[in-house]
Amino acid sequence: MTAHFMVIGNPIAHSKSPQIHQAFAMQAGLDIRYARQLCPNDNASFIAVIEAFFNGGGIGANVTVPFKQMAFEYCQKNGQLSSNAAAAGAVNTLYYENDVLIGDNTDGQGLVNHMLSMDWQLSGANIAIIGAGGAARGAILPLINAGAASITLANRTLSKAQALIDELRENNAAISAADIRSCETGALTGDFDIIINATSIGLTGDKLPLSDDLTCGAAYDMMYGKSLPFLTHFESKGAATSDGFGMLLAQAALSFLLWTGFAADVKQASNALNH
Ligand code: NDP
Repeated sequence: MTAHFMVIGNPIAHSKSPQIHQAFAMQAGLDIRYARQLCPNDNASFIAVIEAFFNGGGIGANVTVPFKQMAFEYCQKNGQLSSNAAAAGAVNTLYYENDVLIGDNTDGQGLVNHMLSMDWQLSGANIAIIGAGGAARGAILPLINAGAASITLANRTLSKAQALIDELRENNAAISAADIRSCETGALTGDFDIIINATSIGLTGDKLPLSDDLTCGAAYDMMYGKSLPFLTHFESKGAATSDGFGMLLAQAALSFLLWTGFAADVKQASNALNH
């Protein structure tokens, strides 16, 4: 019997999730249908689509922009949140376990798994994250759990970075005990093991105000695509670099594992997708 999955978002036409999950299903020998589900950007529509999907026998759903916070609130009221989803304040993976709706967030752990798959050392690492939005927030607990020695959260709007740290500290004991601080992006200086771009600056003409005194062993851009200026900048300083396509694959593999119990070979899927 065909098992049904979907990703819900707006916009959604660009999503690569159907191809990625089909590649995993091929490995697992599973017959699946994974749909892109466009949804109007309001809470009532989101809830209606999610409930219709699961009432119709759907097995698992991914949630993407702009619905991750709505999914979080829905699970808070109607189900259970994983610790990563609770810390992230956002849900990207939904499924039922023993008749209970579970909301998880695999983005941050996907980032960690991708870095570890490239042999980037996280245990004892001093890490800088630029950006204090949803993606940065979701990465903090998984990076701390992976053994990061310190996290410096740099953001254009300093108050947002500090407010995020304060909130996370209040709600999570592991984060509260961690060495975590904030600064303005332009004031970020020193040598880090890893610097992560978690801003949505992307391929716009804008450039991050990176100090000349900022260096790193490895630079990671959560965006993916060709010639990301952030990566070019640190490559020219001799750093190892990676874009975020591997994070996309790794978060998908974690969702697939939660839904099916099958641990997909991410490298093999990446080759099959020609990336
Ligand atoms: P948010 O909108 O929540 O956060 C945006 C962040 O970017 C804020 O910190 C904001 O700073 C900063 N920012 C935006 N524009 C600028 C600019 N011109 N100059 C400096 N800083 C800027 O976005 P998300 O956290 O959801 O996503 C961030 C990135 O991560 C996106 O590129 C997204 O595609 C990527 N991502 C990749 C994933 C993957 O699997 N590879 C998964 C999830 C996200 P301020 O607070 O000052 O406004």
